[in-house]
Amino acid sequence: MSMYNAKSASAREFICHDEILAALEWADENKNNAELISQIMKKASERKGLGHREALLLLKCGKNEELFELAGKIKQDFYGSRVVLFAPLYLSNHCINGCIYCPYNCKNKDMLRKKLTQDEIRDEVVALQDMGHKRLAIEAGQHPEHSPIEYILQSVETIYGIKHRNGAIRRVNVNIAATSADEYRMLKSANIGTYILFQETYHEQTFKALHPSGPKSDYAWHTEAMDRAMQGGIDDVGIGVLFGLYEYEYEFTAMLMHAEHLEAVYGVGPHTMSVPRIRKARGVDTGNFTKGIDDVTFAKIVACLRISAPYTGIIVSTRESEECRLKVLDVGVSQISGGSCTSVGGYHGSAEHKNGDDTKQFEINDKRSLGEIVRWLLEIGYFPSFCTACYREGRVGDRFMELCKSGQIQNCCQPNALMTLQEYLIDYAGADTRHVGEGLIREELSGIPNENTRSLVSGWLKEIKKGSRDFRI
Ligand code: SF4
Ligand code: SF4
Repeated sequence: MSMYNAKSASAREFICHDEILAALEWADENKNNAELISQIMKKASERKGLGHREALLLLKCGKNEELFELAGKIKQDFYGSRVVLFAPLYLSNHCINGCIYCPYNCKNKDMLRKKLTQDEIRDEVVALQDMGHKRLAIEAGQHPEHSPIEYILQSVETIYGIKHRNGAIRRVNVNIAATSADEYRMLKSANIGTYILFQETYHEQTFKALHPSGPKSDYAWHTEAMDRAMQGGIDDVGIGVLFGLYEYEYEFTAMLMHAEHLEAVYGVGPHTMSVPRIRKARGVDTGNFTKGIDDVTFAKIVACLRISAPYTGIIVSTRESEECRLKVLDVGVSQISGGSCTSVGGYHGSAEHKNGDDTKQFEINDKRSLGEIVRWLLEIGYFPSFCTACYREGRVGDRFMELCKSGQIQNCCQPNALMTLQEYLIDYAGADTRHVGEGLIREELSGIPNENTRSLVSGWLKEIKKGSRDFRI
């Protein structure tokens, strides 16, 4: 039996299997305890977050509408109506790991393997800039020859260096395999935004079964990666679970324990949490995965994460449909991808991504272009934001969290959303979207409470219309 210890350096103690089982049993016993549930709801409404047991009880309690309502209010308080947009950029699908759920696994001989050269990265980035993206998440399989750390560092430098028309990628988040503190230090020196690594599943036995070969099969090495990232100086880390691999209640509890561990040891929890659900992929028999969750359960997970970790961004990708994305935006999601291509080299030269079918990681569900998503967000009352200001202004790690916890971050998010949307509308939007967007910018501008900020932003919006770019607070 392992002892639960949030401050431990050992994965098996901070993600303690026995504590998760005990929490599941406790929540089961109390799921009809109206008084306890109402106490936890009251505590949650103070917007200071919840522990993993309390959060699990809410997830299990069946008070869906109350949870959705509270999560929606917390989301509004901390994030307002802004939704940050990004896109994935696949650099290489060569991989030495044997992850059963991923078509890039080394045993899949049907997969066309491709690694982008720096020139091809340039082409991809120009295509992404021409869509209007400012924030990317780069993805690469693990391979010592095809994607060593030097290749990733060079690629990040290439991406930051491309200035095409008014385009620029201002934040590169990195999603690569677990590595050493020294290599994380190198990533930090390359000015990456968030380091993202999904746990896939926190259930060790399932993890071992799904990762039969390759370095990723080492559960502790993988689970302790965020500790090494923080020791290597990376301030913002993004965690995630691939829902559908194991029981969702177990994964939910463990992911919150992971967040609690980072907070307990480093004084700052994860910057983001991602909640992908397993999707169809060529060469992967998704019928093997029987723990899938329906849309309502998925929305409940998002709502309970929002209630339990109000300060942590929640990301949903184009794996989800338009309808599902709308529901989870309302109850907690703060960042979404748009116009995504999940293959290596699929953005350049083909609006339909037809170049990329042979190298695709998974099927996307929301196939709309970035322009369509921007328009959709405007129409449903959200404010699309291309903001990347925080890490460029040094607001990272605990400095960022302090601003989030005090609610002051809104004083930055809202003006930055207005200015980056204005840039987008001028540089990339059609006349209709521009008209709708500029109307909303005028409304939002008049709602900026601080007079000095309002006048500063108003001046900068005029400068943007005259051709200047990249103002930020
Ligand atoms: Fe490789 Fe990542 Fe796919 Fe595993 S999930 S096979 S590590 S690309
Ligand atoms: Fe994100 Fe910071 Fe921009 Fe707000 S100001 S949207 S937290 S980068």
